[in-house]
Amino acid sequence: MTEEANDFIRQRIQRDLDEDTLGGSLVVTRFPPEPNGYLHIGHAKSICLNFGVAREYGGYTYLRFDDTNPLKEDQEYVEAIKEDVRWLGFDFEGHETHASDYFEQLYKFAVELVEEGKAYVCSLSGEEIRASRGTLTEPGRESPYRKRGVAENLDLFARMRAGEFGDGRHVLRAKIDMTSPNLNMRDPVLYRIRHATHQRTADDWVIYPMYDFTHCICDALEGITHSLCTLEFEDHRPLYDWVLDNINVNFHPPQIEFSRLGLEYTVMSKRLLHTLVEDGYVAGWDDPRMPTLAGLRRRGVTPGAIAEFCRRIGVTKQDNTVEMNLLEFCIRQDLESNAPRGMGVVDPLKITIVNYAGDGELLVGPWHQQNVDLGTRELPFGAELYIERDDFAEVPPKKFKRLSPGQMVRLRYAYIIRCDEVITDEDGEVVELRCSYFPDSRSGSDTSGLKPKGVIHWAHAQRSVAAEMRLYDRLFRVPQPGAGTLADDLNPDSLRVARGFVEPAVAASEHSRFQFERTGYFCKDAQSGDALVFNRTVTLRDSWKPDRG
Ligand code: ATP
Ligand code: MG
Repeated sequence: MTEEANDFIRQRIQRDLDEDTLGGSLVVTRFPPEPNGYLHIGHAKSICLNFGVAREYGGYTYLRFDDTNPLKEDQEYVEAIKEDVRWLGFDFEGHETHASDYFEQLYKFAVELVEEGKAYVCSLSGEEIRASRGTLTEPGRESPYRKRGVAENLDLFARMRAGEFGDGRHVLRAKIDMTSPNLNMRDPVLYRIRHATHQRTADDWVIYPMYDFTHCICDALEGITHSLCTLEFEDHRPLYDWVLDNINVNFHPPQIEFSRLGLEYTVMSKRLLHTLVEDGYVAGWDDPRMPTLAGLRRRGVTPGAIAEFCRRIGVTKQDNTVEMNLLEFCIRQDLESNAPRGMGVVDPLKITIVNYAGDGELLVGPWHQQNVDLGTRELPFGAELYIERDDFAEVPPKKFKRLSPGQMVRLRYAYIIRCDEVITDEDGEVVELRCSYFPDSRSGSDTSGLKPKGVIHWAHAQRSVAAEMRLYDRLFRVPQPGAGTLADDLNPDSLRVARGFVEPAVAASEHSRFQFERTGYFCKDAQSGDALVFNRTVTLRDSWKPDRG
């Protein structure tokens, strides 16, 4: 029993191993994405489950591309999916397959069904098929083509494959039961004609197998011992079993369903994600506001945070929507001890220390107060510095611990300063503070006896590095977006761009993720070339204000 054997799927696998029902096979699972978009955090749940259980029980996992619809699929998505799965820390070396690898075998199985009178070529239009399918309360009507003889069916199916017919002219259907209470069993379509170039098989095929026919056969051919899928496939299970029971294949995996991940303040349907990208609401699939793994990665989220999130949500059969707070909690927890803490000023306000004569003084501060392994760095100090604009208040609210006229504050790892003069422009906006410092108050060797209430961060005005700060927030302002018009639910403040400064050691660091005091966790943007851009991964505390509008 592994320590993780606490959900119903792991319990089931454990039981299968204990009772030796796998015929000596290792545990074999698969993750079967359709390459018609980028992976999102919901997929991560399935990836962590499929790859996770196989790893825990010493088996292996196929990454199988479910590429049966050439109109929507693309090699770009195939590559992106592979990158994301590897990024999560899973290996599919030697186990990358594609449904299209099996097209010839699938065709043979379909011919077998036709020969046995279990499938027929139906010449109704798509519209007519839908109309005769019936409803949950009414049985369907049999197709007039249902009685076609085997020879005619074989001939037509061969000619479908040969490209004699246009799209939609015929389909191959299973002959099951038009009165079945399960709509999926009412003579489902197995093959359709599609004159389209496939990203792997090019123009070899003009007929393409449907998911329900393809998926179970691929599972059987690959010897999948546990075919784990989401709950919406529960109603498809009888068809999964019917196909495998009616073809000549000697392996029949069990399909086991678990609940999909839903997450507040975002959408996960690929259709909606496509809309966000194509209509320009975001900058692309890897926009840091997207729930895609590419977006989360670019935002600065680590694979470890995602794994922890998936562990915490667990695997059940209850559909539920997880709070965004939980994901943010996991992100913070992961970065809290691992991200170096640097000084980054998001909204700079200049200060001049009038009594500071020296320049080129280098102060030293640890990268992290607790995680000493991260070491220390040098901080150039000088007469002209930047502080965070809202670390100063001309009229301080009660209990304000930062800088205000006549008050003192400590500059982190540096000196205590006092604000002596506030300089404003013609609009009354504060443009500079003139301060004095206390030479005997240097951090680490403070003999001043002064006790300022607060500590603030800062950056050297000339020696810091200018950086664009992208302050990301939730993409949607409502917990369940997409019920009406997607655009109406967008959070207008999901991105604010600020021009800030970071201390030179941050700019030069090998690290990409930092905690900037008070302003949040940030990550160097990997897509900005030589320009220094920081994406805010998450704020330091949960500061989300529910929508009141
Ligand atoms: P959509 O329905 O939006 O088109 P999909 O779920 O069909 O997306 P696939 O590429 O077919 O996308 O998904 C691959 C695998 O990931 C499937 O096994 C599916 O069950 C699983 N999966 C997709 N979304 C989620 C989710 N939100 N939670 C858990 N598993 C998911
Ligand atoms: Mg799918």
